[in-house]
Amino acid sequence: MAVVTVNGLVDKEDLGVTLPHEHLFVDLSFVYANPQEAEKKKYATQDISMSDLHLLKYNPGLIKSNLILDEEATITTELARFKAAGGVSVVEQSSQGAGRREKAIRDISLKTGVQIISGGGFYMKESLPDSITGSTERSLAEAAIKEIQSGIGDTGIRPGIIGEIGIGPVIGEWEQKILRVAARAQKETGRPLSIHVQAVPTLKDFSGELNGIEVLRQLENQGADISRVVICHTDAKINLEYIKKIVEIGAYAELDHFGKEYYFSDTGFLMDRDMDRVLAIKELIDSGLAGRILMSQDVCLKTDLITYGGFGYAHILNNIVPAMKLKGISQEAIHTIMVDNPKTLLDVEEAFL
Ligand SMILES: [Zn+2]
Repeated sequence: MAVVTVNGLVDKEDLGVTLPHEHLFVDLSFVYANPQEAEKKKYATQDISMSDLHLLKYNPGLIKSNLILDEEATITTELARFKAAGGVSVVEQSSQGAGRREKAIRDISLKTGVQIISGGGFYMKESLPDSITGSTERSLAEAAIKEIQSGIGDTGIRPGIIGEIGIGPVIGEWEQKILRVAARAQKETGRPLSIHVQAVPTLKDFSGELNGIEVLRQLENQGADISRVVICHTDAKINLEYIKKIVEIGAYAELDHFGKEYYFSDTGFLMDRDMDRVLAIKELIDSGLAGRILMSQDVCLKTDLITYGGFGYAHILNNIVPAMKLKGISQEAIHTIMVDNPKTLLDVEEAFL
């Protein structure tokens, strides 16, 4: 048994402190609204300066560039901070459609010494070209399985996880199809599954309802191994009953928005704060659920980086773990969530390596 990283197999015991849901390179510009007002048109092309940061706290999608991570040198420096804080491994969840750049990820892994697990499969329907969204279920499944088995393109880099799979605000035909594809790919590759469930109002039709339970029901119907499924983004606005239900069904619930406390001025949607997340995790641990919880930061906006006024990849280690301890959470529970759970999730059976 071992974990599949962008630089080959790693013994699961060497995974160490692991962030299960991050992005080094990502392109979310498909959610950009393309404003018609003359005074906002500049936001489609401008870079982000210090004096823009306050605008992005109240409307993270206002400036298009904020939706794209593509600066290799910046990302390398930022990821090195995670290593310096005691971090060992990162799961890079950019799948097809999300701006995945596997060769650059491998370079950054070599430069920083951080072990990186790359994602496979397909992101949101809106992020993908017609050539993919118009494909048959069978060819999508074959494409997903092929890159896991023989590498992405000609890179030889094999995804160690299927995801993040993009599930929009409404589970339509595409979502049902891509869940069937994901379940089949899991069966044939033995990889864990990571499912993006829309949790913030960046896409129209978002009602605030979270689809994680319905996703699990559909995956179960397809015979997926639910014990190796992660429902992402359960902490934009925390609903403990929803999280407990995910765990009760047998999946992992991921609280992956540490460092994100944005307000969406168009809809009035306010994300919960980090300390709400810490208290939720304490409650989940006290309920005996530590073995099914994952924590990460889902860095996917420039303003999530320290370079742009955010908290960066080392936020959980530098700021949240001390806050957890102050709230009485034990080192043992923190180790379970940050080391043991990712290790169990990412470990791939011998037959699939
Ligand atoms: Zn996501």
